[in-house]
Amino acid sequence: MSVTSEYATEKVEAGERLTHEEGLALLETTEPDEIEQIRALADRVRAQKVGDIVHFASTLYIHPTNLCELNCPMCSFYAKPGWDKAWFLTPEQIEQKVRDNLDKGLTEIHVVGGLWRDCNLDYYEETFTRIKALDPNLHIKALTPVEYDFLAKMHDIPIEEVFRRMVRWGLGSLPGGGAEILVEEIRKKVAPGKITSDEYMAIHELAHHLGLRSNITMLFGHIETNEHIISHLMQVRNLQDKTGGFRAFIPLKFGEENNALGKRKKQLKQKNIHLVYAVSRLMLDNVPHLKVLWNYIGIPEAVEMLRWGGNDLSSTNTEEKIITMAGGAQILMDKETMTALIQKAGREPRLTHTGEM
Ligand code: SF4
Repeated sequence: MSVTSEYATEKVEAGERLTHEEGLALLETTEPDEIEQIRALADRVRAQKVGDIVHFASTLYIHPTNLCELNCPMCSFYAKPGWDKAWFLTPEQIEQKVRDNLDKGLTEIHVVGGLWRDCNLDYYEETFTRIKALDPNLHIKALTPVEYDFLAKMHDIPIEEVFRRMVRWGLGSLPGGGAEILVEEIRKKVAPGKITSDEYMAIHELAHHLGLRSNITMLFGHIETNEHIISHLMQVRNLQDKTGGFRAFIPLKFGEENNALGKRKKQLKQKNIHLVYAVSRLMLDNVPHLKVLWNYIGIPEAVEMLRWGGNDLSSTNTEEKIITMAGGAQILMDKETMTALIQKAGREPRLTHTGEM
């Protein structure tokens, strides 16, 4: 039987899982009526699973440094010593940034940066401790598996020990970056120096076993095929079956500005963003939240994604830099604006503490 949206609808509504081949067929749909059926199905599944609430957080992004030992072709963020765009924040400066933003009703501090030896465990101990001293209720969502691997190797200790110490100092969860595409042939081209897909997933698994929850991203819209996207989704689904530790899946549209990969225009494969979201919702039947980062795709498109399975509009966006340096939207998004956008979309806004989701 060919995989039509009707077939997928019957299967999903009967409580059955879509296979890899079925997910791929949905992602490759081109007929507008079929695409609309896929959208409607993803929207119904979203409503059944998580209702009409759209979550968002009040987030301060802290990028301790953009200095990095690697130079991933897909990255617009990194710098080398002496570059004008390079920065390094001391723990004192980070504390001051948090202090300056406390009156915005922050719920979480999102910490992620380059792979740099000055950002060692002593640095994070001091940084997290200072943040928690300002407000113990602030949720610290910090570092990618790539950074945890870097820290473990730098200190010559197991990754588990890195996690245990970080938790002691205030770590609450993992934000989920660094996944790119979990298929080696693509990963080697977009981020050749990073840990492998298996290593990346093993660090999430370890975090879950230690009681830490994590999000997980997927960078799409560059040189990957639809097949690679489905392989990525299957890996997320398989690990979630084992651990249940993923809180949200986050598709990230590749930003082409200021990076080496973005210059290879002929190699870039455009994707139907709507279908990527809808198929993610349908394939990941075990991951509760589908997070939409409005600064990757712009506000109108992000609000539209709430009709394609999305139920989390990420966050207010104080001082985010990784996306904006790749050409993403630079808008002051405060709680009032976020609330109004969600209400206009006919959904119910909820400022959510990350630890509660
Ligand atoms: S993606 Fe991360 S590891 Fe790669 S160059 Fe950028 S900051 Fe460094």
